[in-house]
Amino acid sequence: FNENFEYPARPDLFDWTEDHYPNHPLLLQSKSSTNDQSDVIPTFHNASRVKPNVLDVGCGFGGLTISLSPLLPNHTILGLEIRTKVTEYVRLRILAHRKEHPDQYQNCSVMRTNAMKYLVHYFPKNSLDKIFFCFPDPHFKKKNHPRRIISERLLSEYCYLLKPGGKLYCITDVKDLHDWHVEKCDGHPLLVRCSEEEMEEDPCVEVMRKETEEGKKVEREGRFGHEKYYMVYRRLEEEERL
Ligand code: SAM
Repeated sequence: FNENFEYPARPDLFDWTEDHYPNHPLLLQSKSSTNDQSDVIPTFHNASRVKPNVLDVGCGFGGLTISLSPLLPNHTILGLEIRTKVTEYVRLRILAHRKEHPDQYQNCSVMRTNAMKYLVHYFPKNSLDKIFFCFPDPHFKKKNHPRRIISERLLSEYCYLLKPGGKLYCITDVKDLHDWHVEKCDGHPLLVRCSEEEMEEDPCVEVMRKETEEGKKVEREGRFGHEKYYMVYRRLEEEERL
């Protein structure tokens, strides 16, 4: 990958409204106190409130990023992807959705970055409600395990970024990789597993299982016996640390 990434020195130096969420619902405010929606105009009072709080890390072709938009209308969703062409594909896909459904899909976007390196430059401490890791690259060989996107070191970074009570989602069709995710997350003092019931009740779990391109491919090809292994973890308060 071309590693020439630009990134802000600090999260507060990055403006999300211009390139990513120009018509975010938070930027629209009624001109008058009446409920006349024809008077809706953009306002910049809320610009600083427009920042991602849900990340789809390694979003690939963007199926989950886009599906989360109507599911979480009060959140701001960002897909992160390292490949230039794939990022551009998702950007155009989101623009096409916005064109086809005016007033929708304004709360989701995509950005090209290396999520293993630059997250803390973009997102402040305790700013994220959810982080998704869907079908990450397995890096099967032992010598490549340090390249896995879930690791002890990176989990501490993800916990730093998650709000207490925020959730980390991981799904894969590779059993060994799932076992690795569970081992690393179970071992982290700021993460606790969500119960089966909690996962069942969370609509994001259903979408995570059904709406990513990799997930759909697994179903189509019946790879690895159709299995999709997933787990959701909740980020604890500092004083709840295990
Ligand atoms: N999440 C998507 C899905 O389930 O359909 C895509 C899964 S694909 C196997 C893994 C994706 O992660 C690829 O698109 C790859 O380019 C991206 N990726 C790998 N390392 C990354 C990194 N360090 N930062 C951002 N994206 C990364």
